[in-house]
Amino acid sequence: MEIVLASGNMHKKMELEKILSNHTLLLPSDLGISFDCDETGKTFLENALLKAETLYELVKRPVLADDSGLCVAALDGAPGIYSARYGSEEGQANLSDSDRNKLLLSQIETAKNRDAYFICTMALIVDPYRVFTVQESFPGSISRTAFGGGGFGYDPVFVEPVSGKTVAELPEDEKNRISHRGRAGRRMNAILEDLND
Ligand code: IMP
Repeated sequence: MEIVLASGNMHKKMELEKILSNHTLLLPSDLGISFDCDETGKTFLENALLKAETLYELVKRPVLADDSGLCVAALDGAPGIYSARYGSEEGQANLSDSDRNKLLLSQIETAKNRDAYFICTMALIVDPYRVFTVQESFPGSISRTAFGGGGFGYDPVFVEPVSGKTVAELPEDEKNRISHRGRAGRRMNAILEDLND
């Protein structure tokens, strides 16, 4: 199926292309559409649906939105739904990934509990009467320093518990096997496979 992604994030698109490999993923820009959506929801689910509904109104064909983020125990679950905007003032450009990671490490420098988890919520709208959502998580902890050159976002400071490596040190396929997006994507794949039932 051709599915339009409610995102401009190339890293998310590349990861999703591997996970949803039986489908063709397009970005709004591939259709000559500029897509922007204020993420005004209070939860990952609300924001995923908001992005999917906003894009569906524009393209009237199957769309998929991914709302994801990092929740840190020592910060009472922050940055959570504000992960992309963490550390930047309202109306200002987002910090770079590396500046956001520096800020996070400094904010929990003395914290004993470094537990954290990634969340990924996906919303698929096939048509106005067929809407599907899934949410998955990826538990781990926050490192003391940033390591690794792979992935994106908070990957260099997020430690996968079994290997003890940061996600940015893991091969792409391994990240997809265990990550929040990999888990949610496989559930979405199962839904897509069953659509004709
Ligand atoms: P969204 O576009 O509102 O879903 O923003 C999600 C933000 O969460 C991204 O900009 C990243 O900072 C962070 N994030 C989400 N998924 C990942 C991941 O797989 N690795 C690292 N950071 C992630």
